[in-house]
Amino acid sequence: MKEECAVFGIHGSNQAALMTYLGLYSLQHRGQESSGIISSDGGRMYEHKAMGLVSKVFSKETLDGLTGHMAIGHNRYSTTGMSHAVNTQPFLVNCKIGKIAVAHNGNLVNAVELRHEMEEKGSIFRSTMDSEVLLHLIARSKAGTIEEMMVESLLQVRGAYSLVFLLKDRIIAGRDPDGFRPLSLGRDGDTWIVASESCAFDIIGAEYVREVEPGEILVIDGGEPRSIRFAEPAKRLSRCIFEFIYFSRPDSRVFGENVDKVRRKLGCKLADEAPAPADIVISVPDSSNTIALGFSEGSGLRYEFGLIRNHYVGRTFIRPRQDERDWDVRIKFNPVRGVLEDRSIVVVDDSIVRGSTMRKIVSMIRDAGAAQVHLRIGSPSITHSCYYGIDTPTRGELIASSHSVEEIRQYLGVDSLHYLSREGLLSCVDDPENYCTACFCGDYPVERKGRDRVPEAKENKC
Ligand code: SF4
Repeated sequence: MKEECAVFGIHGSNQAALMTYLGLYSLQHRGQESSGIISSDGGRMYEHKAMGLVSKVFSKETLDGLTGHMAIGHNRYSTTGMSHAVNTQPFLVNCKIGKIAVAHNGNLVNAVELRHEMEEKGSIFRSTMDSEVLLHLIARSKAGTIEEMMVESLLQVRGAYSLVFLLKDRIIAGRDPDGFRPLSLGRDGDTWIVASESCAFDIIGAEYVREVEPGEILVIDGGEPRSIRFAEPAKRLSRCIFEFIYFSRPDSRVFGENVDKVRRKLGCKLADEAPAPADIVISVPDSSNTIALGFSEGSGLRYEFGLIRNHYVGRTFIRPRQDERDWDVRIKFNPVRGVLEDRSIVVVDDSIVRGSTMRKIVSMIRDAGAAQVHLRIGSPSITHSCYYGIDTPTRGELIASSHSVEEIRQYLGVDSLHYLSREGLLSCVDDPENYCTACFCGDYPVERKGRDRVPEAKENKC
């Protein structure tokens, strides 16, 4: 599983672009492919976006050029649309209501169908992104006000979206009725902020106010944000449970819960479900650190740093030819021999996707002298692809879609392997019936339309 995207918006700051830049910095973990900011001074809009990390995309000069008291920003990890500069966000268009920009986190499951319909009628698209479909719908709307145009458009799309729009005089934030992706509201005096995760509020000294509710848009144009319910929230929400397993930062609050607390509970539950005869517990850093801490608390085993992660890797020129494959893992991780040698180790990771990376890590730990390796995974086995904004491989590439736990254990070369049960996972959140768990069972809460209809059988019912 890979990162998704991050959105950020701010209204009422005389340093709106700088605050957005800082917010995007703290949300970098959600997408590293490209980054962008569009600002407005109430009359004109200013734009800068490019491929690369936030630190590379922006300079003092580019930020100085993004004037205005409101801005929106986006970090992208491509899930739909290809990895090209034309697909960087925020996406800005000029239409009959003037300039409008959007930053989007999620996937629209009927985007292909809507796009075909519009292309048949003569619409021309500049990118391959879902978000452009939404802008076309808004531009074609005959409703009276911008809010009504937006509501009319949102009612035509289905799937996962946490959105932040920028118009010349206001910001509008919205979240899909199923609540797939997080989106929170924060404030600092008269300045209002929306962001994918609350860690973006902390960095600029703002406080968390609440979630943007599923089926709600918030209009921020000075004073208190105005709330418009454009759709009833789904009877059972489909918040992405993977936000707690992997995507969100532990210092964030998403879906109203503290990520660190939930992640520790995952580890504790895992220790409860699958204790191991071991001397110490280690994590595969960084995403599994907190789950491993929870495992340590639950099992009484000491938590040690057995793998060191190189944080300065970036993209390398090494291509995955068979004989070179181990380099990607060796560049990223190095084992601490003094910790691992002659010991029985519990290794905690958040998930297993293809299994190839974990197999190399296990081999590295064994080469460092570990006596036994017991692998514990803080999520159930991933058997199905995600269609709601997370980059998962095809179902055939997911090792658990076609192999038993014992077969995976043998392939990875570990002494024992256990996944957290789905029940155990859901017992760690406050509101268990309101989460999507489709990648563990194929029970998709919102079906895809048109030529992208969900193809898989639903044999592993949730
Ligand atoms: S399928 Fe999995 S990754 Fe996708 S939204 Fe549902 S829980 Fe999240």
